[in-house]
Amino acid sequence: MEARDQRAFLKKQIALNGLPSLSLSLNVPGFPKSNPTVKAFFGYCLHDLIYALKSNQINLIEKDSIEISDAAGDFYLVPCSPGRLTLNAIKQVCENFEQSHPLGRFVDADLNDQDGTSVSSGKSKLCFFCLERPAIECRREKAHEPEELRSFMFPKMDYYCNQQKEASVIKKLSSLAQQAILLEISLTPKPGLVDKFSNGSHADMNYQTFINSTTAISPWFAELVREGFSYSDSDLTKALPIIRNIGLRMESAMYEATQNINTQKGIIFLMGLSLFACGKLFSQTDQFTIEDFRGIVQGVCKNLVTKEMTDATKPVKSHGEDIFHQYGFGGARGEAESGFATVFEYGLPQMKGVTELNDEVLIKTFLSIAVNNNDTNILYRSNADVLENFKKLCKKALDDFNDQNYTAVIDFCKDENISPGGSADLLAVTIFVHSVIKTYGQHDLL
Ligand SMILES: [Zn+2]
Repeated sequence: MEARDQRAFLKKQIALNGLPSLSLSLNVPGFPKSNPTVKAFFGYCLHDLIYALKSNQINLIEKDSIEISDAAGDFYLVPCSPGRLTLNAIKQVCENFEQSHPLGRFVDADLNDQDGTSVSSGKSKLCFFCLERPAIECRREKAHEPEELRSFMFPKMDYYCNQQKEASVIKKLSSLAQQAILLEISLTPKPGLVDKFSNGSHADMNYQTFINSTTAISPWFAELVREGFSYSDSDLTKALPIIRNIGLRMESAMYEATQNINTQKGIIFLMGLSLFACGKLFSQTDQFTIEDFRGIVQGVCKNLVTKEMTDATKPVKSHGEDIFHQYGFGGARGEAESGFATVFEYGLPQMKGVTELNDEVLIKTFLSIAVNNNDTNILYRSNADVLENFKKLCKKALDDFNDQNYTAVIDFCKDENISPGGSADLLAVTIFVHSVIKTYGQHDLL
């Protein structure tokens, strides 16, 4: 059976059950009627059409839907039960869809009545190419060469698909970043850090403060990814002011939400870099690789510690700079410059082969990071001996993981009034990277 006849037959089959049907196809002149570009574009259109129909309360019988790709191109057909809507009202929804879609002129969203006959609104569509005559006339008279039409359409379809892909990646990465931060905050119990039931070594903040601050900074995540997508300079170091510009706005939002308490300056910097790097990576490829990701982070943060920690002219020094001068540890900047060495060498391997990131996995990951991280947050409140003792206790708890050994770490932080905030930030980055690999990467890395 010819592909076109088969479509008419399918519509009649649905009509035999007394139901109207909706169909989607594309106006692709010449041959072949489908290719990877057309197929991808069709997929996005179908997705959008179904939401348009459902949001107008048109009842689709999706279990009986048919999607085919044959000599006549890509085609979707679904029976619907009109409910309280007239066929004209449904037809209007289809027309509105075509008109409001940026490439709706390439799209045919049709309604067939209970006899399987196409419902027409009587309006004629303008030819998408010349925009002068009705499409039906140009088609009948073969006014334009198929090749001319195809080279007009396909780049537009490609561009649309790329934009849709970018929008979907941005949403996904933003949600994964928020999830990672919330999972780290919610991990309970944690040594010295704020968790669900304890403020740790912090008198001025609690779990609620972190929820407030996380929700205040989250709306910027999408923008960070978008900046990565659109960044085209071959010199990655020029991206740092762009990321900082957004980061500073996030800090303002954080201070506003917490009444001037610094809850998340560290993670704003580290997650900001991560989100930008992912955006840049996905502007070039569909698959996440650790090498590409680390390469971008390293490129953005090249010589960061030397550049920013050894500036003798700077009048006021930050905690991080003070610690660097005293101990030589680069803190969050050093970690970023290394392309998150601690995350990839000590954090992520703890998550290898696990089916679920449960509390035990997350605590072990935290301990593994803490053993190998010269946490400047600890040094700021104490000294190198305390840091060394803390790391030793973390190592013992990691090597022989049990309640007693983990509680010893918690008690030590309480007694010394220290908080390993730097390691907590790296745990959040590790959770984020893990979930990005799970979504977009090679699973054998996990
Ligand atoms: Zn024309």
